[in-house]
Amino acid sequence: MSEVPPILVGVLFAAFGLVVGSFLNVCIYRLPLKQSIVWPASRCTTCQRELDWYENVPVVAWLALGGRCRTCQTSISAMYPVVELVTGALFVGGYLLYGVTPLGFVRIAFGCAMIVLFVIDLQHRILPNVITVTGVPIGFALSLFLPPGWRESLIGLLVGGGVLFAIGEAYYRLRGIDGLGMGDVKMLAMIGAFLGWRLTLVTLIFASFTGALAGAAMLVTGRGGMKAALPFGTFLAAGAFVAAVAGDQIFNWYVSLYR
Ligand SMILES: [Zn+2]
Repeated sequence: MSEVPPILVGVLFAAFGLVVGSFLNVCIYRLPLKQSIVWPASRCTTCQRELDWYENVPVVAWLALGGRCRTCQTSISAMYPVVELVTGALFVGGYLLYGVTPLGFVRIAFGCAMIVLFVIDLQHRILPNVITVTGVPIGFALSLFLPPGWRESLIGLLVGGGVLFAIGEAYYRLRGIDGLGMGDVKMLAMIGAFLGWRLTLVTLIFASFTGALAGAAMLVTGRGGMKAALPFGTFLAAGAFVAAVAGDQIFNWYVSLYR
């Protein structure tokens, strides 16, 4: 890739990211319904009309159609172009951080999984096993060859799964209700397998902190009571993003406070 101007590589990554984002939208819509993500072709979810090729063009199609289906006029959620734009940004960010490297592609794929989990947990309060449970062995296998290395990864998946499981159990014994789902436990184990235990702790602290802030905001504004479940996986996904980008600096800064 050395002869290609970096700016051109960046544009290619952005374009490919937008197209992948369009596929992530299919995953986000179909995984909770347990439908195939490869067949049939994309349809309007209301009138079931199969989409023309140009209606699948990321972002542009949504803007050109004014966010509505061409035939039935049902409005199409702005979540679709947002997911496409965020995925495009993920690809460009991955390129800027890691260049065209194996680790770059792994981190981008991991980011794609986090985007899908973020939105599905937000919309349905579930975290599909097909991503979380599948992600644990994949993350560990990749760490045999790539950072964070297999020891970091193994401790990460054990800490990720174990700590959350212990918190969930303690919460259940104290309050008698399920504060955390097993989905969150499996998701943090996957994050541990991909990022290692240090970044997993950064992810957990970030998610707990922002989750608590959101919970407090919901109480203050009177939207939902104490028992209105927050989508913790959504906060974990955001935390994993932050950890993957700046987790090492955050971890070292935090440790230095106690030296
Ligand atoms: Zn329609």
